[in-house]
Amino acid sequence: MSAQIISGKAIADEIRAELAARVAALKEEHGITPGLATVLVGDDPASAIYVGMKNKAAGAMGIHSAQHTLPAETTEEELLGLVQGLNADPRIHGILVQLPLPRHISEGAVIEAIDPSKDVDGFHPVSVGRLATDSGEFFPPCTPAGIVEMLVRSGHDPAGKHVVVVGRSNIVGRPLASLLLRKGRGGDATVTVCHSRTPDLAAETRRADILVAAIGRPEMIGADMVRPGAVVIDVGTNRVDDPGSERGYRVCGDVCFDEVREVAAAISPVPGGVGPMTITMLLANTVRSAGRQAGVAV
Ligand code: NAP
Repeated sequence: MSAQIISGKAIADEIRAELAARVAALKEEHGITPGLATVLVGDDPASAIYVGMKNKAAGAMGIHSAQHTLPAETTEEELLGLVQGLNADPRIHGILVQLPLPRHISEGAVIEAIDPSKDVDGFHPVSVGRLATDSGEFFPPCTPAGIVEMLVRSGHDPAGKHVVVVGRSNIVGRPLASLLLRKGRGGDATVTVCHSRTPDLAAETRRADILVAAIGRPEMIGADMVRPGAVVIDVGTNRVDDPGSERGYRVCGDVCFDEVREVAAAISPVPGGVGPMTITMLLANTVRSAGRQAGVAV
C-alpha cells in the first residue's frame, strides 16, 4: 500500500485563493486593506529570504505589506520604538518581527511590546496564554495552525483521534498540542507529546492514529515507528549533504518518507508539506485581524 500524499502546497493554494477573495471583499465593502508589517534586523541571509517570501505572498493577494529593514547594530530601544509606532498605525493589522534577533536585543521584550491584537505570529505571552486556556481572541502560531488546517482539509480531522506529537518546542510541539486539545474545529483530539527524554519513543509513536514529527533530526522516524494505517505529518526541515546534487545538499524531513509511505494511510512530504502552510496561516491571521477592525468575521 502506498500512502495518500497530503500536499501542503495544494491546500495552501486553495486557502490563498479564499483569502484573496476575502481581501477583495474587505476593500470593496469596508474600505479596509489588510496591512502586514515585517521587521528584519541584521543581515542573516536565511531571515532575509523568509521575510522576502512573506512580503511577496502578502502582496500577491492584495495585502499591503511594509518591510522594515534595520541594521544589526539597531538598539533594543530603537526597535521597541518601531514596534510601538506599528502598534499605533491603523493601516497595519499584523506585525511580524523576524527571529532570531541580534544577541544584544531581548526577543522577549520585543515580542511583549507587540499589541496582542496585531500579534499574527502568535508568540506574545497573552496569545500563548489564551491558546493554552482556550479563551478570548488570539492568533494561533502559524506552523501549528497550518498542520491542523492540513489535517482537516485533507479529510483527517483530529477529533476523537490519538495524536502523538514528537517535539515540545514553543514554536511547534507545545502550541500544536494546545490547538489539538481545544474544543471544536481542528481540536477534540487525545494528545501525547514526546521529547528527547521520552524513554521508549517508538512505543509511543506506534500508538498514534496521527503522528506529527517536529524534531529536527533527518529521517529519524522509520516505518517500524509507525502504526500501519496511521496519518503522518512531517514538520522537519533538514539540510543533509548530497554531493550528487547540484547544490551539494538536499532538504528532507524528520520522517523516512520512502519507508513510511508504505505503511501509513497518508503522509505529508518535505518539501511541499507543512512549509507552504506556515506562510499561508500568517496571511490568514492578518486578514482575520483586518476583519476584526471592520467588525466582520473573515
Ligand atoms: P526544536 O526547538 O529544536 O525542538 C525539537 C524538539 O524535538 C525538542 O522538543 C526535542 O526534545 C525533540 N527531540 C530532539 N531529539 C529527539 C529525539 N532523539 N527523540 C525525541 N525527541 C527529540 O525544533 P523546532 O523549532 O520545533 O523545529 C523542529 C523541526 O521542524 C526542525 O527541523 C525545523 O526546521 C522544522 N520547522 C519547520 C517549519 C515549517 O514551517 N516547515 C516551522 C518550524 C520548524 P527536548 O525538548 O527534550 O530537547
